[in-house]
Amino acid sequence: MTQDIDLNQQLFARAQKVIPGGVNSPVRAFKAVGGTPRFVSKAQGAYFWDANGRRYTDYIGSWGPMILGHGHPAVVEAVQRAVLEGFSYGAPTEREVELAEEILKLVPSMDMVRLVSSGTEAGMSAIRLARGATGRKTLIKFEGCYHGHADALLVKAGSGLATFGNPTSAGVPPEVVQHTLVLEYNNVAQLEEAFSLHGPDVACLIIEPIAGNMNFVRASVPFMQRCRELCSQHGALLVFDEVMTGFRVGLQSAQGVYAESIPGFKPDMTVLGKVIGGGMPLAAFGGSRAVMEQLAPLGPVYQAGTLSGNPVATACGLATLREVQKPGFYEDLSRTTRLLVNGLTQAALGAEVPFCGDSEGGMFGFFLLDALPANYGQVMKTSNPRFNHLFHGLLDRGVYIAPALYEAGFVSAAHTEADIAATVAAAREVFETLP
Ligand code: PLP
Repeated sequence: MTQDIDLNQQLFARAQKVIPGGVNSPVRAFKAVGGTPRFVSKAQGAYFWDANGRRYTDYIGSWGPMILGHGHPAVVEAVQRAVLEGFSYGAPTEREVELAEEILKLVPSMDMVRLVSSGTEAGMSAIRLARGATGRKTLIKFEGCYHGHADALLVKAGSGLATFGNPTSAGVPPEVVQHTLVLEYNNVAQLEEAFSLHGPDVACLIIEPIAGNMNFVRASVPFMQRCRELCSQHGALLVFDEVMTGFRVGLQSAQGVYAESIPGFKPDMTVLGKVIGGGMPLAAFGGSRAVMEQLAPLGPVYQAGTLSGNPVATACGLATLREVQKPGFYEDLSRTTRLLVNGLTQAALGAEVPFCGDSEGGMFGFFLLDALPANYGQVMKTSNPRFNHLFHGLLDRGVYIAPALYEAGFVSAAHTEADIAATVAAAREVFETLP
């Protein structure tokens, strides 16, 4: 802190008077970990500075988009140039065609893509399209996976096997989620039961292939293979929610990771966000030509957006996607991320703290557990007070990780080995003091 008055506290008090909880997205409020959220005044590279002028090494990166780090010169230049040409037209532009072409080149499972402004919008639209294209109602999702805050997706698991769920939010009538079936992640038997009971009604199965909203839980290869087989067998669409993993875990995204183990593997539809906008409001959903042509204005499934394909956001996304295609980009990013996870693991071992971590590309997660969890129930066994102690210990030492134990972390291309070494040293100190 550069002065006696804590400007974060002052801003938080002011914010709470005018914005519910003082934040525009709940997890920013530090509700799970307690304390005062840091109000960001600026960011550059791997760091941001709070209202007090204090620097933090940023392992959130706007919850995933900032894969190049903050303020990458090529992206800044592209955005500056775009802004001078106008902010928004509500009419088509060449740049949105270019971005669509670029995305389709990199995600060969999609023939066509539509651009929207948020992951929520993309997921919600993908589901409407899947239902419209199949003429079916039932939607399968997995407990612990987050696909944005559309009504039909705010559902927690029902009490029995393969039963329909209950709303997790006030304001969502049970009738709205009556066609949403919530299953346990990585549970093949339950998946098979669900399809045997409801197969002909299933429009789509939506999944986070590497679930970053459970911190970091991979769908096992046999489980994913079964998802693919059962969807194909029953005429349901397999929807990959790659809002977080898209261009984050590798240039081929998570579908590329599964294709390495399951020959010919591809989803029917893909939902993207975060990295493809490079930090601006931009997301997308896409799939086969036959499915995508069901969308308005060609087909009967309605979807629209005033700011969809925004010229400044598309400039930011295009510049970002060009950088990640440079040779060695993901090799370097993966190496830095592994260095972090290995360093944290060693530090925890030294302090005899149960710890396990995992990473893919520039996305990582860790648990204060002896073994990696496979589903939401196991993730939630992580002890909150210990995580909170770790979180605040790191924050006090200038390291910013997600303020909740069920959120993934992100390393950017701007993080150096020196940044990682400093973070591991800070973690070593905190592990020694863990209750
Ligand atoms: N899907 C996944 C996997 C996400 O992680 C998120 C957001 O974190 C969303 C969808 C929703 O995206 P947005 O916050 O842009 O609406």
